Amino acid sequence: MKGPRKSIRKQMQLKGIPAAPGIVIGKVYIFGTEELHAPERKITSEEVPVEIARFKRALLETRKEIIKVEKKISHEMGVEHGRIFSAHLLVLEDPVLVEEVITRLKKKKKNIEFVFVEILDKYIDVLSEAKDEYLRDRISDIMDVGRRILRNLLGAETRGMEDLTDKSVVIAYDLSPSHTAMMHKGRVIGFATDIGGRTSHTAIMAKSLEIPAVVGLENVTDVIRNGDTVILDGTHGVVIVNPTKRFVEKYEKEQKKYEHIEKGLFGLKTLSSETLDGHKVVLAGNIELPEDVASVIAHGAEGIGLYRTEYFYMNRPDLPSEEEQFNAYKSVAMRIKPHHVIIRTLDIGGDKFLSHLDIPKEMNPFLGWRAIRFCLASPVIFKTQLRAILRASAFGKLKLMYPMISGITEFRQANVLLEDVKSGLRKKGIPFNNDIEVGAMIEVPSAAMTSNIIAKEADFFSIGTNDLIQYALAVDRVNEKIAYLYEPTHPAVLSLIRMVIDNGHKENISVGLCGEMAGDIAMVAILLGLGLDEFSASPIAIPEIKKVVRSIEYSAAKVIAQKSLQMQTGEEVRLFANARLKEIVPDLADELSGK
Ligand code: PEP
Ligand code: MG
Repeated sequence: MKGPRKSIRKQMQLKGIPAAPGIVIGKVYIFGTEELHAPERKITSEEVPVEIARFKRALLETRKEIIKVEKKISHEMGVEHGRIFSAHLLVLEDPVLVEEVITRLKKKKKNIEFVFVEILDKYIDVLSEAKDEYLRDRISDIMDVGRRILRNLLGAETRGMEDLTDKSVVIAYDLSPSHTAMMHKGRVIGFATDIGGRTSHTAIMAKSLEIPAVVGLENVTDVIRNGDTVILDGTHGVVIVNPTKRFVEKYEKEQKKYEHIEKGLFGLKTLSSETLDGHKVVLAGNIELPEDVASVIAHGAEGIGLYRTEYFYMNRPDLPSEEEQFNAYKSVAMRIKPHHVIIRTLDIGGDKFLSHLDIPKEMNPFLGWRAIRFCLASPVIFKTQLRAILRASAFGKLKLMYPMISGITEFRQANVLLEDVKSGLRKKGIPFNNDIEVGAMIEVPSAAMTSNIIAKEADFFSIGTNDLIQYALAVDRVNEKIAYLYEPTHPAVLSLIRMVIDNGHKENISVGLCGEMAGDIAMVAILLGLGLDEFSASPIAIPEIKKVVRSIEYSAAKVIAQKSLQMQTGEEVRLFANARLKEIVPDLADELSGK
């Protein structure tokens, strides 16, 4: 927990990492740093039943509140988002916890709030020692529910994120991808966090929700207070606390300029994504939830290059059934028709955790039991998903892709399970596309370096640069302290990308790129020139990518790519790429590059 906050009244400018573009100006709402604290008072024996009655009433009120919020969120944002509250109900209705509070109340003869917080603290202490991620994740559920109960006991106002009525800029030390998934776009107009990097999943989610965001600010929660006004510039990674009138006016102008540019780019929606000399590439969108398909279509993408299915498994106390998954995948496939959707199988671990799966806490989660490694070791979970994907493949142009492949062996192992599932469906006469394309995500350097081998068996590649960069450069993608080392332009990264594209093309398979680098517009010319076939990015980045593609000759992009491959440092490539961008799209370069 953080110490007392300093009050600042003067304007203060903080620099962080741009996570999702756009400018917003609004009042601050600080999320999740509130400590559990209750006043202490001695009570008499006669007061014991009164206190128990107060406790039971508070539990009932809290229960009603949670159910109401669950309904509201499910209605406004979909059942997947509402499910987090089912987990909260489980905590609330835990008979052991309730019994323990009552027993201690009788013994200690202290007011119920005090006793309740004491017991809760004990639970949190025990759980924070636990090795297993499932138990650790319970802490945030317990804290959330604990705060609600306490507020009801104290008669205080309830303030959870879902209770926001005014449009607010949410400020937090950290937000998990599941918290971000719960944000309501109408009320949360922007957010900023102390920790996190450009490709952390919290940042990715912000882009998908189209909420301007800045992460990695290091100390924003120390210097800000509820009710402060901030300007949040998600394009450049800046947060200005208590801005002067002059600054507000300046940023209002910037905001209008940004909106104007966005509107102009929207005009490209129906135009083809081809270079001035007629070389065509596929521009696809990344989605996290089925409802994101609308944004992919609205931004003029020609397909979905990455559907991160793990969000389906988040914010719920159980695993999604085959039927639920089938319905979701089928609806995505049907809505994106005649275009394709690449469904990536479950990629948990790293910075994406599922509280109900028993995954132990690891020293190096990004190098640990994640993605395909977890799926191969959990065939029941994996096959359920494969079955749902295969069944959905009868309804649209659906492709399948495995994450975190480190070499051909894992790819083959996954395919053995896939064949198994196919033969089961065949026996039952359940329709599916027998020729479904199966691709490998290339995001581990060993896979990139053996992509010549994998390309012989895979139907396509998709380069996952978010991970490829962190593994190639040994830079944790969510650690703001070393974010300066996380360089998509690093010569090692460029040569790995070139190697994957060349090896894919030698075997006549298509090579896409679905990491955040695809939406880094200064990099579009280089990637295009390296021969990339498909860019898959957050839908909001699609019009910008298209603008660059349509403003350059393929032959010129090839020259740019070749020159960049000869450079020695990431910095050199970045400066070169920015300078080229200014020549290609002078009107957009400054505003959109974030540099
Ligand atoms: C990647 O690693 O580049 C990628 C697209 O996958 P994720 O960000 O979900 O790890
Ligand atoms: Mg990845």
